Parts: sequence; C-alpha cells; structure tokens
Amino acid sequence: MQLRYNFRVYPTSGQREALARAFGCARVVFNDGLRARQHAREAGQPYLSDGELSKRVITQAKRTPERAWLGEVSAVVLQQAVADLNTAYRNFFASASGKRKGRSVAPPRFRSRKDNRQAIRFTANARFKILDNGRLRLPKIGDLAVRWSRRLPAAPTSVTVIRDAAGRYFASFVVQTTNEPLPPTDAEVGIDLGLTHFAVLSDGTKVVAPKFLRRAARKLRKLQQALSRKQRGSANRTKAVIKVARAHARVADTRRDWQHKLSTAIIRDNQAVYVEDLCVTGLARTRLAKAVHDAGWSQFVQMLEYKAARYGRTFVRIGRFAPTSQTCSACGRIDGPKPLSVRSWACPCGTVHDRDVNAAINVLAAGRAESLNACGAQVRPAPLPAPRREAGIHPNVARTARSVQGISIAVGRRERQSAEIRRAL
Ligand SMILES: [Zn+2]
Repeated sequence: MQLRYNFRVYPTSGQREALARAFGCARVVFNDGLRARQHAREAGQPYLSDGELSKRVITQAKRTPERAWLGEVSAVVLQQAVADLNTAYRNFFASASGKRKGRSVAPPRFRSRKDNRQAIRFTANARFKILDNGRLRLPKIGDLAVRWSRRLPAAPTSVTVIRDAAGRYFASFVVQTTNEPLPPTDAEVGIDLGLTHFAVLSDGTKVVAPKFLRRAARKLRKLQQALSRKQRGSANRTKAVIKVARAHARVADTRRDWQHKLSTAIIRDNQAVYVEDLCVTGLARTRLAKAVHDAGWSQFVQMLEYKAARYGRTFVRIGRFAPTSQTCSACGRIDGPKPLSVRSWACPCGTVHDRDVNAAINVLAAGRAESLNACGAQVRPAPLPAPRREAGIHPNVARTARSVQGISIAVGRRERQSAEIRRAL
C-alpha cells in the first residue's frame, strides 16, 4: 500500500526563493500545456498526446527566449507538472464518459500564483535524497531542514514540496509499505456517524467531538470577523488573511490527530468495522453544511478504510439507503422515519431504543450480512496519509520503532486500549 508521510520543512530565505521559482515554473508549464490543448481543441485539431505536449511546453519552450528560465529548475519538476495536467484530463474524460464513479470531475483549470496551495513533485528520477544529517536534498533547491516527527518505514518513491495558505512548507513523501496484519480478534463494530455525536458505536459508546475543536472553531470565527472589517488591499488585511489561514490549519491538524487516534483504536480493537456510507456531498449542500464539514466524516472513514486494509481488518460501507435509524434492532420491524429531535423510541415489541445506538447496531447487522456476500476490505489505490506516530525508520535517527498508540503491540491489552479510546473520545 502506498502511504503519504508529511513533515514540516524549514527552508532558508534563499531556498524559499528557489522554491518560489520552481512553483512558478511548474505553474507556467502546466498552464502552457492547458492552453495548448485548449487551442488545439478550438482549432479542431486532435488531442495533443502526452509526449507531444511535454516536448512542446518543456523541451522546445526552454529554447525560446521567453521560457529560457525554465532551465533554472529541475526538469523532473516540469515533467511532473505536465503529468498532473494529463491526470486531470484523464479524470475529466473518465468522469464525462461515466467510467469514473462519484462526483463529476471538472475540466482542468489554470493555476494561479494566488492559489492557496503551491506544490512541486520530485520523483526518484530527480535524485532527491535524504542526507545522513537528516536534511532533504532537492536538485536546484538545496538541502532543506526537515522536522522528522516520525520515521519513514522505507525509502520514499517521491516527494512533494508544498507551501500552504498559512505560508508553511511541507515535504510529503510517498512510501510503499507492506501490510502488517494484527492478531485476529472476535470483536466487530457498527458505526453510526451523526450530528449530535461524532460517532456512535454498536457497543453503546458515544463519541463527542472534543471541546478543543469547538473552542478552536469559536476562535476561528472571531478571526474571520476581524478579517471582514479590514480594508481591501491594506497591509492589515494581508496580515489578517494569514492569521485566519493559520487558525484554519491548526484546527485541521488537531482534528486530523484526534481522528487518527480514534480510528486507530477502533481498528485495533475490532476484526471488522462497518460504517454507514453517508452522502456527505449531499449533506454538505444543506443547512447542516457547517456541522458536516466540521465533523470531517469522510476523512475519518478514509482513515478507517486504509488502516483496516493495512492491519488485516475487514472494512465495509453500508449502503446509505438502509433505514438504520428506523429499524428495530431487536425484532427487525421498520417503524417509519423519525425526525432528528426524536432521541429515543419504543418499538411495539417492547424494546426501548436509543436512536443512535440502535442505528449503529443495525449498521453492524447489515455489515455482517454484506461481508458474507462479498469479502469487504476495499483498498484505495491512491497514496493515503499515514497515521501520525506510525512505526518506521528514518536513516538518521536510530530510535527503535515505536508503535502507533500500541497498534503493533500484541493482544492482551484490551483493557488499557479501551481506556485509551475513552480518553481519546
Ligand atoms: Zn422491535
């Protein structure tokens, strides 16, 4: 499985200039390629092949006086920018023809220097290197200082350098990892994702989003208001924009950390995990949008999914049309829809249900039925973010591999682990 490992990097001012130049060149090549394809299309010419395009916007362009400066950056960075454009086109075509499922993909759009996220990618061809002193050597950029918050489990196949809206720099490594199945366990769990609780488990555990996230959201709102009062184009406004971006980044980081802890604990404690497949994009267009985005369910479900694949657990999404909150988990009677305000209800069979726990139990039952039909664990092909504190190696640091919240540690620690979940919640 391919996993992504992200680390903060601290370029010097000279390196920041070199990175800005590389971001700019990658952007120009990408935009030139997009323009060339658009022109060809308008002129009724055939679609420019990947090879032809690369020759035009890189090799030939470098020989012209207007684009001679493309030679100042690593050729791999430029090739990767064209590769990004090709991928964007392929996704768009696949989506338009119905071959690609899910949300429809828009045609590629021009990149701007004002985009929140600037990025360049180096592959192994570029001969980027992690030096013995822990620095990351990038061709034509220099040796970057990296904060290695954990160790890489293997040599990376590529690295993307990113500058985010808050002005921070990151190195995102793609690493091919081997699966590490955990010792099997009998426990299985159904998870109901909801608005009153972040998640409710079929064993009755209710997970509330922690206070620090809600506090951070309040602070963010204040910063946003301060920003709206600043005059357009003023220096104070620019400062306020950066403040808001930093606060956003902090909230996102904290939420991700929290979700990693929760998903790791759930995967470790259960042999099979069943989750209701929420129509998050649909919900996000409704009045519940803020709460939905805040909850970050899809990110959480993705974590469960790849961790399940990695640690030898079963993961199944339950179709979103199963009436999990209407069905009595004791007798199977479908009792009709219930407004969100109804928190508990009594079935004619005599069982009194907590709405969410009942739903989670139904998710568990539906998941078991489904995994009997087809063995579930679906693996996403794209590289996914690796959990923080993942065990691994870094060429420089000779520490022993630490476990993810104990995930690589053998069985017999269930009590402590359950306590950990409770604390994580
Ligand atoms: Zn009943």
